[in-house]
Amino acid sequence: MEEVIILGTGIGGCTAAIYTARADLKPLVISGHEDGGQLTLTTDVENFPGFPEGVQGPELVARAKKQAERFGARFDYDFASGIEKKEGHIEVTFESGKVLETRTLIIATGASARWLGIESEAKFKGRGVTTCATCDGAFFKDKEVIVVGGGDSAMEEALFLTKFCTKVTVVHRREELRASKIMQEKARKNDKISFIWNSSVDGIYGEKVVQGVKLKDVKTNEITDFPCDGVFLAIGHIPNTKFVVGKIDVDELGYIKADRFSHTNIPGVFAAGDVQDTRFRQAITAAGSGCMAAMEAEKYLVELE
Ligand code: NAP
Repeated sequence: MEEVIILGTGIGGCTAAIYTARADLKPLVISGHEDGGQLTLTTDVENFPGFPEGVQGPELVARAKKQAERFGARFDYDFASGIEKKEGHIEVTFESGKVLETRTLIIATGASARWLGIESEAKFKGRGVTTCATCDGAFFKDKEVIVVGGGDSAMEEALFLTKFCTKVTVVHRREELRASKIMQEKARKNDKISFIWNSSVDGIYGEKVVQGVKLKDVKTNEITDFPCDGVFLAIGHIPNTKFVVGKIDVDELGYIKADRFSHTNIPGVFAAGDVQDTRFRQAITAAGSGCMAAMEAEKYLVELE
């Protein structure tokens, strides 16, 4: 029987691991398919307090993991496929077939990139269509690409891609960006970045790899061909909560419903990070909620005794 199992090794899960490890609860932290979470797919993090020069996302999360290990957190890899509330404990089932029992569970499974859901997208996945500029940007040296989306991620990806690409076009479905002012300004000031407004990607074409997209003007429904070598999607994320549906309350978008103390509807089960955050979704808020979930788990264990 574990005292604490933490699902997810993003900054929320790692912070929960630091706190529960320092409370001598020897947490077992299990990473899913995306070890380190979204920060591993980003570059400069300029708004995490304590790093006046900024810090690389992968470095930040790697350091947090090391910090948790220093206090006795154990890290493992598996993929949670279900949970079950039992008398005085929670049972977690994994894809490997493993079943673990724990007195408290902190769910910090984060969120994964959203895809457009159009047929041609599947055909060109890994052949020019991707959701990660930091992973795949270097493959597009001296090429022309589009970035779909109007949020901070889209601006960040577009700016990063200008290091490699000759031209980056942001395609957004409205004529107003959702991104923060500072990110908008950075993107607008960059000569290599241009914008196509009120447009969605209706199709992707090419022989073996992407050669262009079919853009639909959402106001006139007119469709035009737009030649490009790559399509970077930055259209938000979907919370990783499939394995809890029916067991833990989630909202209409699939985010775990947690109260302001990180409690879910099941006593002993807490949620931290993007998996329960419909509003802020920042590295610092994920870390903060990881701390809260850990402290509440500790309190719950004391009360249980
Ligand atoms: P987001 O803020 O939810 O933006 C998603 C963008 O994609 C929106 O512009 C949205 O359009 C568009 N979109 C959604 N579904 C679409 C679809 N099916 N087809 C076409 N466009 C679609 O997501 P995000 O940019 O990933 O950011 C998530 C959070 O992380 C935010 O809180 C953001 O501030 C934070 N973040 C911060 C930084 C930073 O500070 N440097 C960097 C990255 C992310 P609409 O605008 O029309 O809805």
